[in-house]
Amino acid sequence: MRASHIRFLQRRLAALGHDPGPADGTRGPRSDAAIRTALASLPPLPKGWQVWPPRRRAIACLQALARRDGMDPGPIDGLWGPQTDYAVTALLILHQTGQRPDWRDLRPAPPALWPTEREVTATFGPHGQPGGFTPPMVKVPSPWPFRIAWNLAETRAFLWAHEATAASVTRILHRIHLHYGAERLRDLRLDIFSGDYAPRRMRGSESRWSMHAWGLAYDFDDTENRLHWGADRARLARPDYLPFWEIWESEGWTSLGRARNRDWMHVQAPRLD
Ligand SMILES: [Zn+2]
Repeated sequence: MRASHIRFLQRRLAALGHDPGPADGTRGPRSDAAIRTALASLPPLPKGWQVWPPRRRAIACLQALARRDGMDPGPIDGLWGPQTDYAVTALLILHQTGQRPDWRDLRPAPPALWPTEREVTATFGPHGQPGGFTPPMVKVPSPWPFRIAWNLAETRAFLWAHEATAASVTRILHRIHLHYGAERLRDLRLDIFSGDYAPRRMRGSESRWSMHAWGLAYDFDDTENRLHWGADRARLARPDYLPFWEIWESEGWTSLGRARNRDWMHVQAPRLD
């Protein structure tokens, strides 16, 4: 459960006539009292909920609200597992966009979903060639607009994804947006797009093809995350960006910065060999 979930809960409870206090994303006594009152009126009531700690009641309340809006969070048990994460993500998207997201795009991904770099061709097929073969690519709409790094006046509203990763990229973008919101994403320069599909070799290697050549990698904000910079200089290594990386990693993606302390701009689906 993140601050964005608590903020949503506070807004939702206020809309339902309760008094959770300001929607500041922090649980205090006022929010806890409103959660307790709301939970008592949200069937089916979980067994023993009265003696649960406030955090567990807050999760149970989110589960009950998700069920009320037709999402399936599993049992109302106040425990945050993948099914609850899916249902609450879907609930937030429903209230943010007015549209019920496609559950297939939000279903939790199985762990260790992606092959290693060595297995990439066997799993995804051949890489792209300049002016030649292009892997099957899908346009994944982004919930926030990207500015193009090499021309910041230009924006685009999607990322290219290999079709095998499109559902995963969709979930990741929605979760990142729910966590930060468009304004904060811009402040953090997480709206600066520096690359997706590109049929090219790995930088600094004559022989190996880049994961970008399969459409399985993304670069963000290259000017403040240079190829050879370590965590002491790279912006994406700062604590503000931890949730960003955790969301990618929850879907099995690899940050080269976090794994190797280089190329902090880069994230890819295939695991490192
Ligand atoms: Zn890259």
